[in-house]
Amino acid sequence: FGKFQEYDYLIKVVLIGDAAVGKSSLLLKYIDGTFDDTYVCTIGVDFKIKSLILDTKRIKLQVWDTAGQERFKPITKCYFRGSHGCVVLFDITNKQSYNNVRLWIKDYQENNTVDSAENIVIIGNKADKEDDRQVTVEEGLFLAESVNASYLETSAKSGEGVGEAFESIAKVVLRNM
Ligand code: GDP
Repeated sequence: FGKFQEYDYLIKVVLIGDAAVGKSSLLLKYIDGTFDDTYVCTIGVDFKIKSLILDTKRIKLQVWDTAGQERFKPITKCYFRGSHGCVVLFDITNKQSYNNVRLWIKDYQENNTVDSAENIVIIGNKADKEDDRQVTVEEGLFLAESVNASYLETSAKSGEGVGEAFESIAKVVLRNM
């Protein structure tokens, strides 16, 4: 007889957004609590697991980190299908990465089942670089509202908002289960 299950829910989410917005850094900070200034691009996909407790429910959160480059798009799309939700990241110091959020969401929704398509959290990362900010908090909130998602800002460097970001996507997925 199998052993007792260690969790109540297995939640799979994908981390998407342009290259260099900080997807890998955010995930690393969340999982290991570390930050590295050197840029190593993700090849295809990578995933990490974190256990958390939300409203007494034991959650096993599986986060798929995808590569932002065009050439990896066919690979990353396969992972959209099996996921329950997505975290779309942009860099608050890079307006283009903000403008591309809608395209990422469209990509995600077109490649996912209807019941998971609405589980989206938008993150404005690099919030520690306030002096270089190109996207205001209001613009972030406005975009999120227009696609029925929530908006949060994070810094993978300082750790600000990181735990909240992943908890918030887990909560959205749980709510719609
Ligand atoms: P990815 O391609 O989206 O996975 O981006 P990376 O995680 O590789 O990050 C790209 C670059 O941005 C790296 O040099 C990181 O050190 C840097 N970076 C990522 N997040 C932050 C952040 O919150 N603040 C600052 N200052 N730099 C960051």
